Amino acid sequence: MDYKQHIAIVEDWPKKGVRFKDITPLMDNGKAFKSAIDDIVEYAKSLDIDLIVGPEARGFIVGCPVSYALEVGFAPVRKEGKLPRETIKVDYGLEYGTNVLTIHKDAIKPGQRVLITDDLLATGGTIEATIKLVEELGGVVAGCAFLIELTYLHGREKLEGHDVLTLMQY
Ligand code: IMP
Repeated sequence: MDYKQHIAIVEDWPKKGVRFKDITPLMDNGKAFKSAIDDIVEYAKSLDIDLIVGPEARGFIVGCPVSYALEVGFAPVRKEGKLPRETIKVDYGLEYGTNVLTIHKDAIKPGQRVLITDDLLATGGTIEATIKLVEELGGVVAGCAFLIELTYLHGREKLEGHDVLTLMQY
């Protein structure tokens, strides 16, 4: 399926010079959304995973339906101060300043095979940080799945050595 017809490109948002890829029209189209999720479900089946991990907020939108379809758990990665129990955290660089991501300490059992999901791979900073959290808890990153990849930002280079699926490339 041509998923790109369901992506809205918003010029100069959230700031000048950015061409934001908005996935909400894809989500709004039941057939297209299901087909995209089904593609990731098929990929996940080939990886023999135990758990899905996704960063807030759009990593939940992609990861949770896959988790439901495969009857495997989903563990959220969230910004600092959002998860109620004991967490581990990782700092990662943004264009300006740093961000902190956290995961519950008991979210992953050592040796579990994890699929990481998000809507979009840009510079790869978010997923690199998520991989660190998974590996610190003893999880094995079996693969990473995204709806969209911005190839000109070379995020894949940060994910070298990991299996990566993207459904659309710009
Ligand atoms: P990265 O850390 O630079 O790879 O940025 C990826 C993160 O930023 C993801 O969690 C995305 O949700 C978000 N993001 C960056 N650019 C876009 C965009 O054009 N559309 C939607 N999300 C974006």
